[in-house]
Amino acid sequence: MGDSEQVARHDTVLIIGAGSTGLALAQGLGKAGVKCVVFEKHEAQDARDRDWNLGLHWGAPVLESLIPPSSWEQIQSVQVDPNTPTKPEDTLQFFNAKTGELMGGATMAMFYRLRRSKLRALLAKDVDVRYSKKLSKIEYADDGSSVTAEFEDGTSETGRIVVGADGAKSQVRNLLFGERAAPERIPFSATFVQAKFSREQALHLRRQHKLYLAGIHPAGLFAFFGMQDAPDPDRPENWTFFFYISWPSSIQEQDETADWTNEQRMKQVKEKSRDFADPWKSAFEWIPDNHPCWYHDMSDWDPARAISDEYPADKHGGKATIAGDAAHTMTYQRGQGLNHSLTDAKKLTDAIASFMRGDDYEVQKTAIAEYEKEMVARGGDEVRLSTKNTKMLHDWGMVMQSPVMTNGMKKS
Ligand SMILES: Cc1cc2nc3c(=O)[nH]c(=O)nc-3n(C[C@H](O)[C@H](O)[C@H](O)COP(=O)(O)OP(=O)(O)OC[C@H]3O[C@@H](n4cnc5c(N)ncnc54)[C@H](O)[C@@H]3O)c2cc1C
Repeated sequence: MGDSEQVARHDTVLIIGAGSTGLALAQGLGKAGVKCVVFEKHEAQDARDRDWNLGLHWGAPVLESLIPPSSWEQIQSVQVDPNTPTKPEDTLQFFNAKTGELMGGATMAMFYRLRRSKLRALLAKDVDVRYSKKLSKIEYADDGSSVTAEFEDGTSETGRIVVGADGAKSQVRNLLFGERAAPERIPFSATFVQAKFSREQALHLRRQHKLYLAGIHPAGLFAFFGMQDAPDPDRPENWTFFFYISWPSSIQEQDETADWTNEQRMKQVKEKSRDFADPWKSAFEWIPDNHPCWYHDMSDWDPARAISDEYPADKHGGKATIAGDAAHTMTYQRGQGLNHSLTDAKKLTDAIASFMRGDDYEVQKTAIAEYEKEMVARGGDEVRLSTKNTKMLHDWGMVMQSPVMTNGMKKS
């Protein structure tokens, strides 16, 4: 085998996870002329029905820089309502969820509200995604030239670097950091619903805000209500809404209810919604008791717990790193996760492009260490701020001093 073939064998970036982070990174690398393959454990992009929507705000220029202009032109089509153009400024309003009174709002410039599934489909365009590939192990070449990702189906792939963009329960993070990779459980839980309604009901539910609103209940609960999919403005009966209620729930309670059925979860959240104002009260009342819902115990993972002066980042010469929720798992009430994930994708694209054309492994080691240093400071700050925000939003006496009320969704 000649030298050029040897270099070519290890010129590929192996990205684990076809979420927004992994796909945005693949787009950025594609633009930079770097070869990459994305490995996804599910069998298809739409393998799961669960979908939610994401506020893209300060990260919008970052996304624009990662994807081709022809994809950015389609950003409106992946919004929850493709027929309501993004305004130069929009406000996420916060209501007293018991009385319906307006409490405040977070105003952002060019505040996009994207459907997660459609964003992923847009980002998957022209990317080599291999499905049904669940990462199990990572092996490092003794000479430092390559890294191999091994999958549960017995196959493997060798490349120049593995990037774990495999979400909040990242296997890459587990492999890199062992017990320091464990997320911190937080005593809050939420139940999420997606639902369609009759024409009259849908028009009623959308009266307060066309796209999204948040509710804070004096009893210490938080709620979100928003459009998820409005393909035709004249067919409200086809609109899908996404909404949830979150509440304080001890770790003990989380454990004791871990095996609850869909019906039990729905019964619980319906009971909580009875003391809410609209749109939550009516929306929960109108859905059947066996309507599908999903429940989520909150947790976070601060990268500073694993990467610090005490624990230097890199044991493998920059051959493996993490990005997105895998690198900084944060609660979602301040709407920052996607914006940071895209920022990771951009910074990592630049770092990888800086060493990919040569085979100086010291340059690689330094570039990845620098990426991690910046990511740990930026992402770690936001993990801590988002958890603080979640706690304060569920504490009526503290709500008005919470980060989202005082500083909106601005970058921390
Ligand atoms: C209700 C809610 C509202 C939110 N609102 C906002 C918001 O308004 N603004 C905002 O910025 N952020 C928001 N977020 C956060 C945002 O959704 C995440 O930060 C973002 O989607 C992270 O993407 P990711 O690609 O890192 O992770 P994921 O989307 O979790 O993708 C990880 C991928 O890796 C795959 N995978 C996992 N393990 C393996 C394995 N071993 N092998 C192969 N593949 C694997 C998974 O199947 C998945 O496809 C919200 C989150 C929630 C839950």
